Amino acid sequence: MSDPVRWDAGLIRRYDKAGPRYTAYPSPAQYADGVVPADLVTALQESRVAGRPLSLYVHIPFCANVCYYCACTKIITKDRSRAQPYLQALEREIELTSHHLSRAQRVERLHIGGGTPTFLGHDDLRRLVDRLRDAFTLHEDDTADYSIEIDPREADWPTIGLLRELGFNRVSFGVQDLDPEVQRAINRLQSLEQTQAVMDAARALAFRSVNIDLIYGLPRQTPDSFARTLASVIEMNPDRLTLYSYAHLPDLFLPQRKISLAELPDSDSRLEIYRSSFAQLLAAGYRHIGMGQFALPDDSLGNAQEIGTLARGLQGYISGEEGDLIGLGVSAISQVGDFHCRNTGDIKLYQQSLEQNRLALHRGLKCSADDRLRRVVINELLCRYQLRFADIEQRFGIDFAIYFADCLGMLEQLHRDGVIHLSVTGIEVLPAGRPLIASVCRMFDAYQHVVDRGRYAQIL
Ligand code: SF4
Repeated sequence: MSDPVRWDAGLIRRYDKAGPRYTAYPSPAQYADGVVPADLVTALQESRVAGRPLSLYVHIPFCANVCYYCACTKIITKDRSRAQPYLQALEREIELTSHHLSRAQRVERLHIGGGTPTFLGHDDLRRLVDRLRDAFTLHEDDTADYSIEIDPREADWPTIGLLRELGFNRVSFGVQDLDPEVQRAINRLQSLEQTQAVMDAARALAFRSVNIDLIYGLPRQTPDSFARTLASVIEMNPDRLTLYSYAHLPDLFLPQRKISLAELPDSDSRLEIYRSSFAQLLAAGYRHIGMGQFALPDDSLGNAQEIGTLARGLQGYISGEEGDLIGLGVSAISQVGDFHCRNTGDIKLYQQSLEQNRLALHRGLKCSADDRLRRVVINELLCRYQLRFADIEQRFGIDFAIYFADCLGMLEQLHRDGVIHLSVTGIEVLPAGRPLIASVCRMFDAYQHVVDRGRYAQIL
């Protein structure tokens, strides 16, 4: 397969600016105060009437150790009993939300993330899935996408076996980097054998898809060291591989203050790590899905890309539409119809709120017609690297050139620079523009001028 990307360092320097990665539009950073539980209840009731399929996301925030690069909502504790009041609150939230939905609405996707979901013991994991099954209609025939994030340091064969028995058929392993020097610098010591053991278990137990997460741009990483990590990971043959770029924002994420700026690769090395990883993965037979997501051709993402059903959701690329997303747990995001909201990130407030039988959302927004239109435009670009104006005009009853007249100057500049090909019928993202796809999408982001750049890092 020819390289779908051309690396132009000058273009990347010019266009790779801090901004959202568009797992959602509008970005959760745009959510505002003033939403109340009744707003979510109304949205859930509308979902029931419309009979839309569901996705569930459950957040388990606990971790036994802190990784210095972490930007997740988590609680670092070795005290496993801290999970109990949290699980009680979670169960209450499951009851309160499912009450407004119909059993005819099937759960097409379930994802448990964290934190570290396997911080929970086996009994707690079983009970959590049982509660979900009691409240929602989960598929029992292994056809839906039910996934869970696994820290290989916190899981073994029996845990992977339990998860398969509970109905999970996809698994994502956090690896980040296998080099001992890098692991020391990020406070995440994890041997290749630990990862290999859970990989072997997932294979033996016939998980349908195994993903491995890696991060580039970490302290003490070099192009050579990361190439060795990637070679070892490729040897494990995961179906999917996600390459995240490290975003150093120590003012926002306190553990990152332990990372020395002097140990971070400079921007040229970061780009070289990404560029050579890209080539290494393509040479190993992986397909680039988009935004650092790679998959083997026979994985469902590769197939979705081929038949045009690729979509992007809060957990990254997915095959097929997400349906209404119900976020459960501290900081979890829900997207139900046009209503998007996020739960509080404060675990005490979350638990207190649910003890009082009150949903714990604290910020959100109701999408406008303009938000809906722009979301489709952005997702088309992210998933297909092209946009046909006629499709958007037909679907939304607009004249594209008039509606987006404000963007025209910027799009023409991208065209002159060889990032996109702009014609009267549409936009095609050129190979030199593919690494800059988020910057292309930003042209259609109505909030781009109010984005707080301090909340984001560059994409590459
Ligand atoms: S990176 Fe994952 S395992 Fe590490 S502290 Fe953050 S949430 Fe926990």
